[in-house]
Amino acid sequence: LAAILSNAQAALRFLETGKPDLNEIREILRDIVHDDKRAGNVIRSLRSMMRRTEEEKKPVMLKEVIEDVIAILHSEAVFRNVHIESDLGESLPPVLADRIQLQQVILNLIMNATEALPQNRPEERKIILRTEAADSCVRASVRDFGRGIEKENLDRLFQPFFTTKGSGLGMGLTLTKSIIEANGGRIWGENHPDGGAIFAFELPVIGGQ
Ligand code: ADP
Repeated sequence: LAAILSNAQAALRFLETGKPDLNEIREILRDIVHDDKRAGNVIRSLRSMMRRTEEEKKPVMLKEVIEDVIAILHSEAVFRNVHIESDLGESLPPVLADRIQLQQVILNLIMNATEALPQNRPEERKIILRTEAADSCVRASVRDFGRGIEKENLDRLFQPFFTTKGSGLGMGLTLTKSIIEANGGRIWGENHPDGGAIFAFELPVIGGQ
């Protein structure tokens, strides 16, 4: 939306010059159409995610859910200049969970990771997504290279309305935790020994002990 606004303002400025370059204006309008379609797609995906109230548990491959979310967030990541790396286990077993809810969890964790990065140098604006086997569970983690979590806040991350952001709501991690627990799993967040924060969750594999 910010890109659409600045392009529309640029087009207005061109028109006010008296001798507008129509090719330039055509290019700007093309960009506006393109960005509008992209915004529409993002809003549609988010609406379908939020609208759902009933759980629908089915066998789900975490790798596929994460790939879906990376696709949804692609333009956001480009816009914020954040590089998303992934190391997704190829042959991990499925878990029994609600796919749309899991998308919401991963989206929340990636958005939090992204919001922890603005002060980083461009080469450190990176998030690593990983899936791996862990006993009779599959573990997914989102690691960032941001400022990390203040020690005194580690115990409060998942509490309702806990936020350190000026315009934060403090409900993202609360919702995330309740979704993971409703799907039989557990979630935690900590500082990574090499800097930044890492949030991970585990869900039991189908038929596991
Ligand atoms: P909000 O994003 O609205 O603040 P959340 O429940 O998602 O709400 O997060 C709560 C708080 O947890 C954040 O305000 C922030 O202090 C902390 N937090 C979450 N993710 C990270 C992260 N990746 N790095 C550092 N702090 C984080």
